[in-house]
Amino acid sequence: MEERISVALDGPSGAGKSTIARAIARRFGFVYVDTGAIYRTVGLAAWRRGVPPRDRERVASMLPELDIALRHGTDGLQRMYLNGEDVTEQIRQPEISLYASDVSAIPAVRAFLMDMQRDMARRYDVVMDGRDIGTVVLPSAGLKVFLTAAPEVRAERRFRELREKGTGVTLEEVFRDIQYRDENDSSRSAAPLRPAEDAVILDTSALDFQASCEAVARLVEEKFGL
Ligand code: C5P
Repeated sequence: MEERISVALDGPSGAGKSTIARAIARRFGFVYVDTGAIYRTVGLAAWRRGVPPRDRERVASMLPELDIALRHGTDGLQRMYLNGEDVTEQIRQPEISLYASDVSAIPAVRAFLMDMQRDMARRYDVVMDGRDIGTVVLPSAGLKVFLTAAPEVRAERRFRELREKGTGVTLEEVFRDIQYRDENDSSRSAAPLRPAEDAVILDTSALDFQASCEAVARLVEEKFGL
């Protein structure tokens, strides 16, 4: 069998991973796998059940009751299902971001979701975005990019995105949320956010979407001869 192409796109919240990953997937015909959405689905399950997201035992004991699935529609976009229910929109609520960040620090949660992510890379050419794709999930990915940007720039981008969706949050709230998640995601002992040794680091603070996309697309072309 021909070897699959895997592009790992890691970095902190608001660095532009999902927008860039979507564009790269479209341009090269890869499947875009948004792993944050999978953690968000576990976060939503905890929230709905009133399970405190930092309570390792209660979160772990909820996992066997969860049937989490991801499917791609004809538009190429990923939809998330929780016990058969489409929760693609619900998982984007700001409070679910914080739940996702908390539950994702629990090793049992990471182990529970691992196969699902690796299975996608076995079956398709993928661009997969997350926090630990290059370091843990797909350590032999052909290309690893670590996207980053200054926290103020990331907060501003996320704020604009949420405002467009009509979510009534303030820039200060978004900034605090980003700081909380940065700290949580980088300081945890299970798969902390850090660039893989062989990752290309791309700081998008001074780049617009088009320029960031072009930079990643060039890396893909060089690496895979496309
Ligand atoms: O990428 P997104 O912001 O949707 O991810 C939500 C949360 O899920 C992150 O703050 C992070 O804590 C967690 N996450 C993770 N590992 C991944 C993807 C997301 O821990 N591969």
